[in-house]
Amino acid sequence: MMPSKWLMIKRQRGILLTPPELGIQTMTTIQLPDGSTRDFNGPVTPAKVAESIGPGLAQSAIGARVDGELVDLQFKIEQDAEISIITARKGESESSEDALWLIRHSAAHVMAEAIQRLWPEVQLVYGPPVEGGFYYDMWLPAGERISSDDFEKIEKEMKSIVDENRPFTRYEMPADEGMQKVESEGSKYKIDNARRAIDAGSDALSWYATGSPGEDWEDLCRGPHVPTTGRIGGFKVMNIAASYWHGDSKSDNLTRVYGTAFTDKKQLKKHLHQLEEARKRDHRVIGKQLKLFTIDEAVGQGLILWKPAGSIIRQELQDFISKHTYRQGYDQVFTPHIGRLELYRTSGHFPYYQDSQYPPIIERDQMTVMAEEGCSCGDLSNRLETGEVEGYLLKPMNCPHHIRIYASEQRSYRDLPVRLAEFGTVYRHEQSGELSGMLRVRGFTQDDGHLFCMPEQIKDEIQGCLQLVKIIFETLGIEQYRVRVGRRDPQSDKYVGEESNWELAEAACVEAAELLGVPFESEEGEAAFYGPKIDFVVRDAIGRDWQLGTVQVDYNLPERFDLTYIGADNTTHRPVMIHRAPFGSMERFIGFLIEHYAGAFPAWLSPEQVRVLPVSNKTADYAKKVQADLRAHDLRAGLDAGDERLNAKVRAAAELKIPYVLVVGPRDEENQTVSVRVHGIEKDLGAVALDDFVQAIAKEVADRAHGTARSTLFPDA
Ligand SMILES: [Zn+2]
Ligand SMILES: [Zn+2]
Repeated sequence: MMPSKWLMIKRQRGILLTPPELGIQTMTTIQLPDGSTRDFNGPVTPAKVAESIGPGLAQSAIGARVDGELVDLQFKIEQDAEISIITARKGESESSEDALWLIRHSAAHVMAEAIQRLWPEVQLVYGPPVEGGFYYDMWLPAGERISSDDFEKIEKEMKSIVDENRPFTRYEMPADEGMQKVESEGSKYKIDNARRAIDAGSDALSWYATGSPGEDWEDLCRGPHVPTTGRIGGFKVMNIAASYWHGDSKSDNLTRVYGTAFTDKKQLKKHLHQLEEARKRDHRVIGKQLKLFTIDEAVGQGLILWKPAGSIIRQELQDFISKHTYRQGYDQVFTPHIGRLELYRTSGHFPYYQDSQYPPIIERDQMTVMAEEGCSCGDLSNRLETGEVEGYLLKPMNCPHHIRIYASEQRSYRDLPVRLAEFGTVYRHEQSGELSGMLRVRGFTQDDGHLFCMPEQIKDEIQGCLQLVKIIFETLGIEQYRVRVGRRDPQSDKYVGEESNWELAEAACVEAAELLGVPFESEEGEAAFYGPKIDFVVRDAIGRDWQLGTVQVDYNLPERFDLTYIGADNTTHRPVMIHRAPFGSMERFIGFLIEHYAGAFPAWLSPEQVRVLPVSNKTADYAKKVQADLRAHDLRAGLDAGDERLNAKVRAAAELKIPYVLVVGPRDEENQTVSVRVHGIEKDLGAVALDDFVQAIAKEVADRAHGTARSTLFPDA
């Protein structure tokens, strides 16, 4: 239904009409998330829909999604629509992403108004919600400066705006009229924003007044917003940084003020506590403190150098994963770090993904020929793409190498599934701005594996992959995790492979996820074009979600590489491939584990499991004997026989988060005992027989348990 001209004009003025004034009696049918429907006479707003459902919902509503689009409570729904009401209730432990988006976007307006009250000359540029909060970019006149010392002052102004509980009031103007208004106000930044909106196809511009249009502060904005400033229950100005207009360092210098906001103060407090915890757990800081890894500009950005202590953790973890993949029938393989460009032309990784790859390595004789011809960079690039010039690529994926191992033998249905596993190092050229410690790197080692099977075997293979994940997570004490199954979008025809195979594979993924017994989501449209997939998301000790690896069914590469097996019917068939790297990469996984454990690894992963400290020189020999005993049981035992005071040595061991520290004095030597200290507990837990300690710690390590030596030897500690 097209709104009448009169309605259009009224809408431009931001006046909402009730159906009787319009005299329209067309029925609007609203479908709610539970599938039920409600009919309304004429246009209706989400606020009215919420009211019709109940006063509780009406009170907690702050916005809505109408046919998927996030809107204000006062948005006018003029035709049948699906709607879900977005709520934010004070006292709820967590608010939805949509709710936080609305609250934070609204808080950005409040912060901007507060800043303009304090610094009237400040010009606003752009203020979006971002992960964990929001920011506003501002232009400050020469000589003006906002610093963290001003945050309290800004928050005080914000508080008064929030306490006034003013409504966010939207009004619109047609593009040309709106443009006139923006131009008359004279801010080049807002003129630019308005122009871009119009260039992107908007036929109107909208403003949000914090209060009444024409009287109160307002901002050019698409919205949506919470209904009133009072809904911003907890907020804080967090940070300040320099930025540039349009992110261009040659353009205007701007000041970016960051803030965050939540439904209530309790949620804000929880968030601030989490940030503080996250800061303490930062794997880059702990990685340095525990000497686990380093990144050296001389070697290259995003390339991890595993130091001895970090290498122990990685090796232990790899051994553990390998043991279980072997039990699941995988065969270990090793493949080189480079492969011919032609291989990646076949797989499709080159040239399509070349932006995220290191440039190719060119054959020496071809380089010579090209140099003689005076070949330009552009020529070279073209010739590489067409295949006239041959070279090698640092491998961006391990799959093509494993595929060629599969193809190296004639396979029969009796050989399937073929399961190949490799901790394979791959290289991707991430933007330098994207690099972050061990989490975003340019070279990383995947816990990779490729399964080649018949379509009817997919189910068991995927279940096997999920079982492995379960075992590893349980051992590591990761209790909270979920899986996401990415299925096809039934409307799209971009997918390769046969319909019946997809159905089989999707059902297999869902069934495997169900069997796992952890929460899972099944998301339509999240599959790759070549097959459905399963992602793993783990929640760490302080409640942050981490996306780790995937299991991915693939109908495409077997086709591209023309892989076959001889079936029971003696004819050739196409196998299906499953890529699986459930923990992602060793870099990312260990980065996650460092933060999850805050560096205090369980003994089996700890680079140094036990450290022996003689009280004085008198027991130096006994301390050596204790260390030798531990080492004889394959335990990683250190000895600190230096001249420092005992307290300093205890502190140094605590700094390295060594799980067990044994202090030995003359009486220990006499009784063949050790006095045990456990990381995280300030006091000495008491003396136990050396043999008992060795046995208890050896068992804890062999079981890959966490803290059992302590609980066996000191049940009351
Ligand atoms: Zn806004
Ligand atoms: Zn793969």
